[in-house]
Order: sequence, then C-alpha cells, then structure tokens
Amino acid sequence: MMLKNRPIGELLARSRPIISVEFFPPKDEAGGAQIVETAQEIREHLHPDFVSITYGAGGTTRERTFRYASILKDEYGFEVMPHLTCVGSSRAELREIIASYQAAGFCNIMALRGDPPRGETEFRPHPDGLPYARDLVELIRQNFAGFSVGVAGYPEVHPESASPEKDLYFLKAKVQAGASFITTQLFYDNANFISFVDKCRSLGMDLPIIPGLMPIRSAKQARRFCRHIPPELELALETAGDDPEATREVGVDWTYRQVANLMDRGFKAFHLYIMNRSGMAVDVIKRLRESGRLQAGPVK
Ligand SMILES: Cc1cc2nc3c(=O)[nH]c(=O)nc-3n(C[C@H](O)[C@H](O)[C@H](O)COP(=O)(O)OP(=O)(O)OC[C@H]3O[C@@H](n4cnc5c(N)ncnc54)[C@H](O)[C@@H]3O)c2cc1C
Repeated sequence: MMLKNRPIGELLARSRPIISVEFFPPKDEAGGAQIVETAQEIREHLHPDFVSITYGAGGTTRERTFRYASILKDEYGFEVMPHLTCVGSSRAELREIIASYQAAGFCNIMALRGDPPRGETEFRPHPDGLPYARDLVELIRQNFAGFSVGVAGYPEVHPESASPEKDLYFLKAKVQAGASFITTQLFYDNANFISFVDKCRSLGMDLPIIPGLMPIRSAKQARRFCRHIPPELELALETAGDDPEATREVGVDWTYRQVANLMDRGFKAFHLYIMNRSGMAVDVIKRLRESGRLQAGPVK
C-alpha cells in the first residue's frame, strides 16, 4: 500500500521533542537484510518522528535510495526524507527524480550539492545541471508545491569554504531560496553548534536548525566528518582502549549528554546518524526516557 507522507516542516512545529534517524541505501543483499532489521528495531524501540535516507556519490544510488525510501515509508510507516544531490544529473533528470518521489507519496527532500567523485578535488556540475544546493532548493520550490526542503549546515564550516563568513552567507542563500529547515553535519562539541546557531540567528535565519549527532564508535571514524573531537571525549576513548563494550558506552553516554544538554538549552529536534545500526541510538533514546526528557512509547 502506498502511504502519503506529511511535510517535515509541519512536524517541526510541534512543541514536543522531535527525533529523526538517517539510513543509507545498502549495496548488497546482506546490507538489505541489515537495513530492514534496523528499521524494525527503530520502529519498535525508538519511534522516530521521521527518517532520512542518503543519496550516493555520482547518483549511483538513485534507484536504491528510491527503493529503500519506499520500503521505509510503505512497509514501516515512517515519514521519510530522501536525500538528493546535484551530482551527475541534469536539471531535467533532477525534476524527473523529484516527480517520481511526489507520485509515490513523498513530500520531503534533503537538497544537497554532493561531493566531488573520489579522486577529484573540485566539484564540477553536470553540463545541464546545478552547481550548488541553493539551485536545487530553487528548482524544487519552482516546480513542486507542498514539499518540505531540508538543507545541510556545517557548525565546523564546510571544508571547501573560503571562510566561516562565506559559508554562512551561502547557507543564508539556501534559506532564502526556500529551505524549510537545516540539518547539521555531525559534531561532538555542543559549543560549536551553539555558536553556529547564534550566528545563523544574527543573520536572520529563523528556521529550525537540527543538530546532527552520531554516537562515536572510534575517533578515526568520527574524524571523517568532524575536525574537532573534545579532549574529554578523546581521553574517554583512549581509556576504553580496545574494549568494544567500553568504547560503545563512551559513544552512547557522550551522545546522551549532548542531547540532554541541548534540550536543557531549549533545542527540541535531533538527528541521529545511525549508519544502519540501531543499538547505540536506541540506548541513547532509552536514557533520555529514563531521565524524563523524552516520553516513552510512540507519540502521534
Ligand atoms: C545533513 C547532511 C546530509 C548529507 N547527505 C548527503 C547525501 O545523502 N549524499 C551525499 O553525497 N552527500 C551528503 N552530504 C554531504 C554533502 O553533499 C557535502 O558536504 C557537499 O560537499 C556539500 O553539499 P551542500 O549541499 O552543503 O552544498 P552547498 O550548500 O552547495 O555548498 C557547497 C560549498 O560551496 C560553497 N558555496 C555555496 N554556494 C556558493 C556560491 N554561490 N558560490 C561559491 N561558493 C558557494 C559553500 O560554502 C560550500 O563550501 C550531507 C551532508 C550533511 C550535512
């Protein structure tokens, strides 16, 4: 049965905490089994308000992102935000992809530029394509009424950006083009996020900004996305050493404390990068429920 999703912009207007989790489209059968098992556990134990699913390098996951987005929506009943990048697609193809999502009952898109292909340092748009995420937001706004559009924000500044000021300037351009909310790259130091939000607000960006958090599994993994690991977290990981259980506990505890601290400061929407595994995210949510910060069970 094809289910019709609701715009995430509407969900974010609720007064209670909002939790989202991010999946990626699996490459093979084993990965396929993993994502459905995780989706089951997430539905049973985490009750996210919405989920997102990434779009791979060079548009290589176009079909897989669509297939798994549909499974998550129609078989698991999630509100789903498929990601889409400008990489490797003409404007006509991007319109076609979004139209196919619309026809299948989706009304949310995470609009991204994407990264240059492996081995290349500079992003080159498709000859008939779009150079920046801002242009994709505009394309969606001009052609697809009723969509909620998420865009990416970078508390530690996008690696290609000439300066933090320039990065915020271009972020504001995405907001002005019609973004409904910002989801951030992951970070482990809440001070960086708070300072980023303060700067966005001072530039007049008043849309929801959702912090992106990932229970850390190792400092090496975290550094792929995040430059700054706080010394306290480094030390805790070092102390845990090669003990997987101790390392897992450090990861769960740090993310729990990040969310609790941000909730205490008035933030209410949180995005968890789960890498298609449910265990650590479910444990973070359990702790938030035990501390009274989240209510138990599904909330509709
Ligand atoms: C929440 C989140 C989800 C993501 N999901 C995916 C995914 O599913 N698939 C994937 O491949 N990647 C994903 N990414 C990674 C993302 O594609 C890369 O970080 C990419 O390098 C930048 O994408 P963007 O949408 O932020 O680009 P943009 O907003 O277009 O910015 C890219 C760079 O260009 C600069 N810039 C913007 N506009 C201009 C302009 N007019 N002139 C000059 N410079 C400009 C910006 O400051 C920035 O340095 C995700 C990132 C985040 C934070």
